[in-house]
Amino acid sequence: MSSPAPDPRPLPDRLRLDGRHALVTGAASGLGLAIAEGLLQSGAAVTMLDVDGAELTRSAAALTTAGGTVGTRVCDVSDAAQVEAAVAEAAREHGGLDAVFANAGIAGGPSVQSPEGRLYDLDWTTFDGALAVNLVGTLATVRAAARVMRPAGRGSVVVTVSTAGLRADAMVGYGYSASKGALANLVRQAAVDLAPDGIRVNGIAPGPFHTNIGGRGPKDPAIDQAWADTVLLKRMGDPREVQGLAVLLASDASSFMTGAVYPVDGGTLAGVF
Ligand code: NAD
Repeated sequence: MSSPAPDPRPLPDRLRLDGRHALVTGAASGLGLAIAEGLLQSGAAVTMLDVDGAELTRSAAALTTAGGTVGTRVCDVSDAAQVEAAVAEAAREHGGLDAVFANAGIAGGPSVQSPEGRLYDLDWTTFDGALAVNLVGTLATVRAAARVMRPAGRGSVVVTVSTAGLRADAMVGYGYSASKGALANLVRQAAVDLAPDGIRVNGIAPGPFHTNIGGRGPKDPAIDQAWADTVLLKRMGDPREVQGLAVLLASDASSFMTGAVYPVDGGTLAGVF
């Protein structure tokens, strides 16, 4: 979806994804599902990848009823060999891969606000688990996608970072903070590495959104309120509110954008910096 030269088509055409193939990890729920929906609505064929096969089947079926081409792959992104095979197969099926959203992620342990989340009692297994999915799993996804994009000399890679990767956040734990902080720099590093091959790499940094992550969402109104209080707009995001940036970054309308991480956070970071 990147193009080495400026694209002369009018903006609405450059924003469309007809004939393109995009793959989204962590697509069974939350932001990944919303991203998959936005890509489909913009004309792309979408491969949805997730470790939760049952939820993936349900979500893909719901999207398919709205029309469009949807494929699924059950895969644990923390297993690089699995990711490599799943991405390569999906690309073969669709004659290539134009965009990838390395989005799968887990909360990975209690926040530093809870006694067991503080550094004094940090549990290494939990910490390693967060890094395995959020950092290593993302890098494996980006590598697998870049390998299949390289021969085409074009492609758009989008990593789901977090506002928690761009500054300290008392409401998350060390594994989440460390992995998301690393992802912000991984976006820049991969952008430098892959630019000569026509592959653009960008990040989306969501603020607090209503999803399943960490078991939060409408289940605990007090936690929701605490998150909403961190946002200038004084509410959590709806997953559909990430779709605009996701589609833009996948499309040729973002052909001059690479190596940056863009917040979609209701102004959370504006209140910090
Ligand atoms: P979610 O829990 O609704 O979705 C995450 C999805 O990833 C789930 O479907 C889950 O099954 C899948 N997943 C987890 N581990 C996996 C693995 N090893 N392999 C493959 N799939 C796996 O949560 P979400 O909020 O939609 O999270 C999506 C991304 O957004 C994550 O990277 C998260 O860190 C990031 N994010 C979320 C928020 C938020 O407030 N919701 C804020 C900032 C960043």
